[in-house]
Amino acid sequence: MALIVQKYGGTSVGNVERIKNVAAKVKAQWSQGHRVVVVVSARSGVTNELVARAKALSSLPEEREMDVLLATGEQETIALTVMALHAIGVPAVSRTGAQAGIVTDDRHTRARIVRITGGDLLARLDEGKVVVVAGFQGATESGEVTTLGRGGSDLTAIAVAASIKADLCQIYTDVDGVYTADPRVVLDARKLPALSHEEMLELASSGSKVMQARSVEFAQKHNVTFEVRSSFNDNPGTLIKSMDKTLEDAAVAGVALDRSQTRVTVGDLPDRPDAVAALFADLGDAGLSVDMIIKNLGKDGKANLTFSVNTDAYAKAEKVIAETLRRLGSGTVRSAGEVAKLSVVGVGMISHSGVAATLFKALASVGVNSDLITTSEIKISVALDPAKADEAVRAVHAAFGLGK
Ligand code: ADP
Ligand code: ASP
Ligand code: MG
Repeated sequence: MALIVQKYGGTSVGNVERIKNVAAKVKAQWSQGHRVVVVVSARSGVTNELVARAKALSSLPEEREMDVLLATGEQETIALTVMALHAIGVPAVSRTGAQAGIVTDDRHTRARIVRITGGDLLARLDEGKVVVVAGFQGATESGEVTTLGRGGSDLTAIAVAASIKADLCQIYTDVDGVYTADPRVVLDARKLPALSHEEMLELASSGSKVMQARSVEFAQKHNVTFEVRSSFNDNPGTLIKSMDKTLEDAAVAGVALDRSQTRVTVGDLPDRPDAVAALFADLGDAGLSVDMIIKNLGKDGKANLTFSVNTDAYAKAEKVIAETLRRLGSGTVRSAGEVAKLSVVGVGMISHSGVAATLFKALASVGVNSDLITTSEIKISVALDPAKADEAVRAVHAAFGLGK
């Protein structure tokens, strides 16, 4: 009999009918004698709604209080899911992140898991119960509620699967797998039967929100194989597993789009290595990651830096940078507007040439010009005008022959 972790995302638990559907799917496994841990998200829209309420009261709400607020979304769904299971005769019990022993550091709103004790999870499973764990949340050693970053229920599922050595980790969502591009944007996108951790990680960190990037990083590190599949049909999903030679055939596996990047311009920074280092160190210490950096030489020993940050993180980044510049005694920081980031990803890029040429030709065909560009071994990203983003993704997807 297998030990199974199933995660259901926001749309999958979006209303009472859907929670009943989840309960029925869980019952199908449980009644075959499998031990099942269920991880649930907040109902879709709930976390955004809570963020909006907080922002209506404060432009930069205190992060500890944000976590106390945001964790309520998942607390609602664990209780409702257990009630739905009880209603169809399945013994079950809910556990908050803290009760499930998900111990994190104290970086509120983006806490990292330091260990998982599991609480009484295995004991309850041995009693024949289904255990329903709140995704996205944990607690510090001293019991402060924390959250794991947006999309963090994926991380809860993968981390729990790793810690209890589950036989199967299934991520149930509103698409039946990982596609060559967001199927909502590219109508002829193809479902990928399998994908390496590396590719999934690059796609996720480039904006394919089907999986939270940090959860994939965790899966890679702990070698957790998982499947992304639909909670609304029984189609086979996409298997994400460690790198495999057979995955390297195509140069590009998929195209990702991140619509929520803001371009940050820092002007008149002292052009000294320690000044640039201090700026990025302060951003890093604040848990902020930057991408697509360009540095230009200015006048009088000063330099200008441009880079992108997540739009959600801009207010905080500006505050951190302003403080660094005050300490350095020179420099200005401003937002230069929102940009979208388009990325092509594939392990095959290591051995195929001409990827950049195909990419830029496709972008040119739709009149897109880009000045912020970054590359890695298996990814090329470009920043572009958000108004052109969908058109650009479709052109690039077609240029690499990814469609049906
Ligand atoms: P959940 O609430 O289940 O966590 P998400 O909304 O976070 O679900 O992620 C699923 C969504 O990810 C899909 O509805 C789809 O629009 C989007 N998505 C973006 N890129 C991809 C991709 N390459 N393949 C599949 N889905 C994608
Ligand atoms: N509810 C959280 C969010 O919307 C976590 C998740 O859905 O995975 O980000
Ligand atoms: Mg998600």
